Amino acid sequence: MRELSVYYCPKCGYYGYYQLERNAVCPKCRLEMTCLDLNYQDFMDLSCEERDELLSAYIIMSSSPYVKRLLEPHKTNNKREIIAQMGARITELEIENEKLNKTIEWMHQTIWEMVRASKGLTSDGKEHFK
Ligand SMILES: [Zn+2]
Repeated sequence: MRELSVYYCPKCGYYGYYQLERNAVCPKCRLEMTCLDLNYQDFMDLSCEERDELLSAYIIMSSSPYVKRLLEPHKTNNKREIIAQMGARITELEIENEKLNKTIEWMHQTIWEMVRASKGLTSDGKEHFK
């Protein structure tokens, strides 16, 4: 019989024990789980708090540098689930924010072009301020 390995979900912090990597799929997120770099027995010997702390550290480690910076101070006070959820949410917001920035940039551009067109100005728009 194969040995069990510990797997965790980097998105929600759920963890479980599996023999085969292909079975290690988070039941909540439907995502492939990451194998923990620690054998089953060593993990079982840890207390709940120690497991939380260890998995939190792993989740932070696998985050983007920006997310990492925001989560680092919370590591000692927060539980694994909160850390994982925060990380996932921050990443989502980061992506959303980038999209919004691009939209705003595009809107500025469009407004300027409309103003220039209506005033009959040159493309640098400087005449407007004379
Ligand atoms: Zn999950």
